[in-house]
Amino acid sequence: MRNQPTYDVVVIGAGIVGLAHAYHAMNRGLSVAVIDHADRVAGASVQNFGHACITAQSGTALDYARAGRRHWLDLSRKAGFWSAETGTFCVARHDDELAVMQEFANARGPSQVELLSREQILARLPIRTKGVTGGMYLPTDLQVDPRRAAPSIARWLESRGVEFFWRTAASGFEPGVVHTSRGDLRAGTTFVTVNYDIDRLFPEPALREGLLRCRLHMLRAILPLSSTLPAPLFTGWSLLRYSGFEELPSTRAVAHRLQQEYPGYVDLDLHQMYTPQPDGSILIGDTHVREVSASPFQSEAGFDALIERAQDLFGVNDIEITERWQGIYCSAPDSDFLLEEPMDRVRIVTVTTGIGMTTSMGLAEASVARAFEPDGVSVPA
Ligand SMILES: Cc1cc2nc3c(=O)[nH]c(=O)nc-3n(C[C@H](O)[C@H](O)[C@H](O)COP(=O)(O)OP(=O)(O)OC[C@H]3O[C@@H](n4cnc5c(N)ncnc54)[C@H](O)[C@@H]3O)c2cc1C
Repeated sequence: MRNQPTYDVVVIGAGIVGLAHAYHAMNRGLSVAVIDHADRVAGASVQNFGHACITAQSGTALDYARAGRRHWLDLSRKAGFWSAETGTFCVARHDDELAVMQEFANARGPSQVELLSREQILARLPIRTKGVTGGMYLPTDLQVDPRRAAPSIARWLESRGVEFFWRTAASGFEPGVVHTSRGDLRAGTTFVTVNYDIDRLFPEPALREGLLRCRLHMLRAILPLSSTLPAPLFTGWSLLRYSGFEELPSTRAVAHRLQQEYPGYVDLDLHQMYTPQPDGSILIGDTHVREVSASPFQSEAGFDALIERAQDLFGVNDIEITERWQGIYCSAPDSDFLLEEPMDRVRIVTVTTGIGMTTSMGLAEASVARAFEPDGVSVPA
């Protein structure tokens, strides 16, 4: 590294949150450097479903998700990675699940939530008919290729003049200076976007917020389906996952019934969702175990549960598993984001639940605006 190179903005962490900050800073004409201790994008930002799950969010997360939608589509065109305005289906296989969907549709209206009859959802999805009571379609949700999106954005930003320092670890901060394993950089503003590793750089806020590493079982599979899955598919389990459903009157009944019906899945904290990929495979997930340090050891029970549920939903026996992996994201008990300025001009930006692909673009736009227009910035529409 040259002697103390100087940038308007230094971003620590080349995941989607850091890249989104670099993008919005570059769009303001600022000089930007991104440093990452890995040699490529390899964190949560390539381990996920690639699902911009906009509609199921609430509050600030919903604002960020909505604001970020157009940036995903713009970046997909500019940086050349696959994205699709597929929306999301959610199948109901019990009356209590349909009740939640009806309440959600009433709250959000037809432009965000289309209720589907049993016949309508069965006509659109290659799933087993047994037990299906109806469903909903969320038309504004998006998909991106989770393996290509963030790496393509990094390459594109580099081609536009953003400087990347790979295999370079940030080790300490002072106002205006970032200490790294390859020397110091001078930074007008520093965004620290290192996901769950924030507890290694700034332990106090991480401890105060109760941040943990949440590890997930994930599969890529080829399913012998009668037709292709046209969009990401949620199930009743998804109604227990996202804040948009949390306060609805019928959600508690779904949680209670699923726990009674599937006691073996409680420890796994199972979710059942599917995202079709451009190559015809389907990403299947997920389970959730929260720890300070993530154990590298994954139980076979988690994979068994995912396969069992997929066999049951799609009515197939032969599922060809082509990949298994453990994904890890940051998890906090009470909040979706950790946003803090622990010292002058050094800003921590961490998404503290599994919605960073959905919210990063809007979050970063607001975060960069807050740093450079400190007087009364609101989330962009
Ligand atoms: C299995 C799984 C499924 C998910 N599905 C979805 C989904 O469908 N939709 C959705 O919205 N979200 C989803 N998420 C969540 C989403 O992937 C994350 O919220 C998001 O990727 C977090 O981005 P990030 O940039 O903060 O983290 P990361 O991508 O992990 O990037 C952090 C970077 O910081 C670097 N770093 C750490 N410490 C240092 C240091 N000291 N110096 C330099 N570099 C450092 C790391 O190398 C890493 O590259 C999922 C997550 C997982 C794990």
